[in-house]
Amino acid sequence: MINIKNLHKSFGDLEVLKGIDLEVEQGKVIVLIGPSGSGKTTFLRCLNLLEVPTDGTIEIDEKVMDFKKPVRKNSITSFRSLTGMVFQSYNLFPHKTALENVMEGPIIVKNIAKHQAKETAAALLTKVGLGEKIDFYPFQLSGGQQQRVGIARALAMEPKVMLFDEPTSALDPELVGDVLQVMKDLAKDEGMTMIVVTHEMRFAREVADEVIFMDEGKIMERGKPEQIFTNPKEARTRKFLNMIQ
Ligand code: ADP
Repeated sequence: MINIKNLHKSFGDLEVLKGIDLEVEQGKVIVLIGPSGSGKTTFLRCLNLLEVPTDGTIEIDEKVMDFKKPVRKNSITSFRSLTGMVFQSYNLFPHKTALENVMEGPIIVKNIAKHQAKETAAALLTKVGLGEKIDFYPFQLSGGQQQRVGIARALAMEPKVMLFDEPTSALDPELVGDVLQVMKDLAKDEGMTMIVVTHEMRFAREVADEVIFMDEGKIMERGKPEQIFTNPKEARTRKFLNMIQ
């Protein structure tokens, strides 16, 4: 589903991604861990083309972007629609209801008819456990509920891959579980291909097919969760895990 080769990203003189190679099969859940500043968010943003990589290639669902060549704006828009992104801060429109927030993308970007977008949005909100709240505004929802609207909003665009950037780190602890459950269901029931940046190690143990440890803009180590958590090969992985666990 995903094939990334030699991905580089610099901001001016600062090289943040220093050659990332990664293949992800359809339906797999990858959890990305690593110290703050190691490039995890930049990596996700590159996959969604919120940042344009400086070199390398990204292939998603057999569509390829080659960043050695100049990138055209309309190819960015169509490539971006292959991935759905869920952010740490939910970024919902405050003056729109949950339902309207989820309908917006399909209507504006995909030209879907309003009644159809509404039906899909209601079904998605029900799926994330918010069937009773579709007419609520963001300020009437808890952080966890807002984040679930954020997930429904990304799903409404029918992405091939879901990218989660620390989706629970802004939430009060008691609200984290519901969001993780929605993500678990998405992986198990729908077989969604997912890349998740998170500090939730229990989620990683239970759901991830593979854990990737990133440091200083590179993939330092990757493996099954039990291998990475109980028997990491790299000293830096061990040091990081000791700090957070
Ligand atoms: P992580 O998600 O692992 O904490 P980030 O990808 O957020 O790491 O950041 C990696 C590095 O890239 C940091 O040094 C950060 O300051 C830098 N960086 C991220 N975005 C930008 C930007 N838009 N302009 C300049 N530097 C940036």
